[in-house]
Amino acid sequence: MPPLARYPYLYVPGKSKEHSKPMPIQATSKIWHNGNLIPWEQANIHVMSHVVHYGSSVFEGIRCYGQPKGSAVFRLPEHMQRLLDSAKIYRMEIPYTLDELCAAVVDVIEANEVAPCYIRPIVLRGYGEIGVSPKGSPIEVYIANFPWGKYVAGQGGADVCISSWNRLAPNTMPALAKAGANYMNSQLIRMEADINGYVEGIALDVNGLISEGSGENVFVVRNGVIYTPQLGNSALSGITRDSAIAIARHLGYTVSEQPIPREMLYIADEVFFTGTAAEVTPIRSVDRIVIGDGKPGVPGDRSSSQGWKSGEITRKIGDEFLGIANGLKPDRFGWLTPVKVNAAQPASA
Ligand code: PMP
Repeated sequence: MPPLARYPYLYVPGKSKEHSKPMPIQATSKIWHNGNLIPWEQANIHVMSHVVHYGSSVFEGIRCYGQPKGSAVFRLPEHMQRLLDSAKIYRMEIPYTLDELCAAVVDVIEANEVAPCYIRPIVLRGYGEIGVSPKGSPIEVYIANFPWGKYVAGQGGADVCISSWNRLAPNTMPALAKAGANYMNSQLIRMEADINGYVEGIALDVNGLISEGSGENVFVVRNGVIYTPQLGNSALSGITRDSAIAIARHLGYTVSEQPIPREMLYIADEVFFTGTAAEVTPIRSVDRIVIGDGKPGVPGDRSSSQGWKSGEITRKIGDEFLGIANGLKPDRFGWLTPVKVNAAQPASA
């Protein structure tokens, strides 16, 4: 008998080919820390910091897109307001205003001259006391930016599963706070999906209703109507979710935020993810059950009984979203904050 792998319960490389590609962080020059730009390599924390032991951080993920002229951050004030909201839930006092935080993001991008890019603001409880009570640990605010590509793999649509892990139950870990500690649950979802050969997992909430992916919100289309779980289903208040809803309504579609049972995914015409990293990602199959005709986003697919094409609504929302983000369509909702950096590479490279 061949010897057992040393950690047989851990990651099995090569199971899901596309998705498990490593994405090392590409260092830039500066990181914003408590009001100053410091060298990337000096943005360190002590191992005895409160956050390391108790997961006490809140953070954001934001994209800056290339434009025909320069670059622009997508929905910057909304992201920074969510950061302030996450901090408020955890009684973390951030000594900066919304405007100051937004200006800091622009400053760090312009200092690093890297765009398109992903922006990672993080607020954490630093080095002070070892007790669980965070009182004696200082609040540290960092903002980094770096180049980053596509997050959810799957050219012709993502193959996903329903996770055996539930999303956070209400009144345990607050799902509306984008807290570092929530991502322990996300990691379980993501690792299980990965090891079983899926690109992502969708978690149910504690009542068995659709909640969200490990890092994405979920949308379902059936008979021309768009559905997405309510925030009360333990889903994050995604900025891309909000953008997709606004775009869909602008395009004349009905969007319903409501409880969604698992099996509704199997019989949907279309299913898609939204997220800053994932953008608008069509889903091809759930638990190996093919969604629609399994060709989301391919023009000319078979028409449904109601007369629309498979993947059509996902494609329209995705096109409008990327069109606005890349400055190719009018910024009709006022979502872009320009930064003075010429885009060096295609937005979704
Ligand atoms: N849910 C979770 C758990 C996430 O981590 C994310 C990514 N921030 C999302 C949803 C999507 O949110 P957004 O569109 O704001 O990126």
